[in-house]
Amino acid sequence: MAISKVLIANRGEIALRIHRACHEMGIQTVAVHSTADADAMHVRLADQSVCIGPAPASESYLNIPSIIAAAEISGADAIHPGYGFLSENARFAEIVESHNLIWIGPKPEHIRTMGDKIEAKLSAAKLGLPLVPGSPGPLSSLEEAREIAAKIGYPVIIKAASGGGGRGMKVVTEESQLETLMAQAGSEAKSAFGDATVYMEKYLGDPRHIEFQVFGDGNGNAIHVGERDCSLQRRHQKVLEEAPSPVITHAQRNEMGAICARAMADMGYRGAGTIEFLYENGEFYFIEMNTRLQVEHPVTEAITGLDLVREQIRIAEGKPLSVAQEDLEFRGHAIECRINAEDWKTFAPSPGTVKAFHAPGGMHVRVDSGIYAGYRIPPYYDSMIAKLIVYGRDREGCIRRLRRALEEFVVDGVKTTIPMHRALLDDPDFQTGNYTIKWLEEWLAKQQGDA
Ligand code: ADP
Repeated sequence: MAISKVLIANRGEIALRIHRACHEMGIQTVAVHSTADADAMHVRLADQSVCIGPAPASESYLNIPSIIAAAEISGADAIHPGYGFLSENARFAEIVESHNLIWIGPKPEHIRTMGDKIEAKLSAAKLGLPLVPGSPGPLSSLEEAREIAAKIGYPVIIKAASGGGGRGMKVVTEESQLETLMAQAGSEAKSAFGDATVYMEKYLGDPRHIEFQVFGDGNGNAIHVGERDCSLQRRHQKVLEEAPSPVITHAQRNEMGAICARAMADMGYRGAGTIEFLYENGEFYFIEMNTRLQVEHPVTEAITGLDLVREQIRIAEGKPLSVAQEDLEFRGHAIECRINAEDWKTFAPSPGTVKAFHAPGGMHVRVDSGIYAGYRIPPYYDSMIAKLIVYGRDREGCIRRLRRALEEFVVDGVKTTIPMHRALLDDPDFQTGNYTIKWLEEWLAKQQGDA
């Protein structure tokens, strides 16, 4: 069914991103916003806008009845959730569909399965994805935990089944710590996620984080759109992402990508998804699947020429995938820098009024951002204010162009992480792609020491 008006249940750069894809497809847009976002760019650009509640996200961007009412009064026929907020809420997806609205996202049952990390691992195993060795399901007793840890070998990591955002994880280096740390993990999981269920995995010493972008049409056809390397993280939050990964060969991409695509085809998966792996010593280990568009999707767009949001909308309309696996080509290199309004040495948030704003431009430079001179960054939401995505024919050329783009970037009035990205590009390890998931925190500690 053709979509003619999309309600975008999000804010900031991703709301703009979705609006742009819609307008290029001749689809109208409805923005929703909190009272704190009345002047936001996503509200200004949309064809219509509806205020859905006060500043706190729990009363606005997470307010399901308000969002459904906004869709009904504005005459929207579909809802795109973006990332974060309600994007991985299976109940929301069901409510949207029960109101005869098109949900631009995966089937609710798949969102639910992948949202529970133990369920997700069980289905991943069935679908033939390689797993980190660990407990087959929830840990039911200390004895069981002891036995499994002895079998897979220390160090192990205890993780919350309902966890997210890198929280609720404990690394256990020897058996004497197991009892205490397992109890702590359980009680922290209970208070953070309302569910004390925990499971165990082998703790990988120094892996990279590599994820595959996939798309399914919901009828048993699926493709992979290559990998992204997201190893540069701080507190398990991604800071800079690149595609392709500097350490993955063409043969590895084809092989792992095909395994991912086959898994999605077997599942009957619909829409965009990301299968996340840890990668160490040439082996991939599934950790989780995200059933939504990712922040870092533009690096994939840059090296394939595919518009991932357009693809999501087409699939939601019931159309087939717009490209066949054999026609997809991966060309050149792309890097995304996440630019946050914070002090890059202390990471203290820096909300406030943007006095001057100048985004870089030129060939192969893309800035996705909702900010402008005079904009007041509200303190209520995520601190990411812009994404800079740069493409080059090869990794070296991409880094040179990125450095030039970062030189041009001006954001005055608030502190940002632009200086951090500039310093990062000058590091020899970054330049050779020689980094793992632990690398950035160690690098940051050294930079802080120099301050
Ligand atoms: P969340 O959903 O909370 O983000 P993930 O399972 O995706 O949790 O893990 C987040 C990050 O934690 C990974 O990117 C990695 O840095 C680290 N991590 C998770 N599992 C392991 C493991 N078994 N060994 C080593 N590091 C891990």
